[in-house]
Amino acid sequence: MAWKTLDDMDFAGKRALVRVDINVPVENGVVTDTSRIDRIAATVDDIQAKGGKVILMAHFGRPKGQIVPEMSLEIIAPTVSDVLGLPVTFVNGDYANAVAEMDAGDVLLLENLRFNPGEEKNDASFAQRLASLADIYVNDAFSAAHRAHASTEAIAKLLPSCAGRLMAEELGALEKALGAPARPVVAVVGGAKVSTKLDLLGNLVGKVDHLVIGGGMANTFLAAQGINVGKSLCEHDLADTARKILAKAETAGCEIILPRDIVIAREFKANADNETVAAADCPDDAMIFDAGPQTVTYINEVVKSAKTLIMNGPLGVFELTPFHKGTFGILDVIAAQTNAGALISVGGGGDTVAAINASDHADDFTYISTAGGAFLEWMEGKTLPGVAALGV
Ligand code: AMP
Repeated sequence: MAWKTLDDMDFAGKRALVRVDINVPVENGVVTDTSRIDRIAATVDDIQAKGGKVILMAHFGRPKGQIVPEMSLEIIAPTVSDVLGLPVTFVNGDYANAVAEMDAGDVLLLENLRFNPGEEKNDASFAQRLASLADIYVNDAFSAAHRAHASTEAIAKLLPSCAGRLMAEELGALEKALGAPARPVVAVVGGAKVSTKLDLLGNLVGKVDHLVIGGGMANTFLAAQGINVGKSLCEHDLADTARKILAKAETAGCEIILPRDIVIAREFKANADNETVAAADCPDDAMIFDAGPQTVTYINEVVKSAKTLIMNGPLGVFELTPFHKGTFGILDVIAAQTNAGALISVGGGGDTVAAINASDHADDFTYISTAGGAFLEWMEGKTLPGVAALGV
């Protein structure tokens, strides 16, 4: 699929309505993490450098079509201004007038889109109202692109549209990882439950050469093969589904990698007494919390032979030491291979980003996607409405 970027548009003297994701965490009225705001700067700077006027629109929290004062973007506006190093004018109400008074170089921030029930309904008349404010629509919110909302989908049909820098960067990185990747490709999928990642596994087995299954979901696969998993987190009712995924992988020539040795404990807490045993030897009263060192060594051999890696989910309960060792053990090798220029690595999803940060490898991946739901839906092979709407 192809889409236009900022380079394809003429912004001189034009008003650009830019959909961004600045849904940042706020505690006691203070923004505690500006990462999402940092990442919109490239697009704002570029449009301004090309002589355009920037009108920012975004959602904040889940007000569900109601006006909720604690979710007003007025709270975020000063931080947006600080991070961008520009005056940012928050507007609430008479948008048309505020836009009419804009000078070149001005930045406006509109009120939380989700205060209007039309936003989440992808309402054509709300989209029309927004579109009437501008000459060009820019979508820089990949993380909101899996939703067909007025500001992500309907509006793209009403104005000349393009992807912002962050959106283009994200789409480019994901295309490299799953679209036409350098092979061999390895995917690491972990986390708590298979049930939340069925579509993901189903899509990946047809696309990648090696699929590492870790975390709680590995237990479901072990149990489906008749292996006792004791008291571990396990979805026994998904045994048939797990077997179907294994069969599909075999037909597709995708190697499924499950734990060969496991780290077990009897209490779910940090530093719980633990031991490492073969995957087939989990006692009835124990829980599996991590992949063991033999498994990690094997996965790392596969990572070293791969050219592309995509990761969503940890190998174990990485939040509780020492059950982070499996996840961190592969992250170290992924980081080294990436830094050596031997591997394109893409990671995404809340827990994965947390594990990458905790292992101190935030700068060692080719690309880290902070878009949770949108990243997952992309990996599942689904069409994202906000991306499709930008298609040319
Ligand atoms: P998810 O949100 O599905 O990506 O799952 C991530 C969570 O799965 C993390 O909080 C991990 O602690 C948890 N997890 C990973 N491995 C296991 C396991 N063997 N048993 C229980 N929870 C796990």
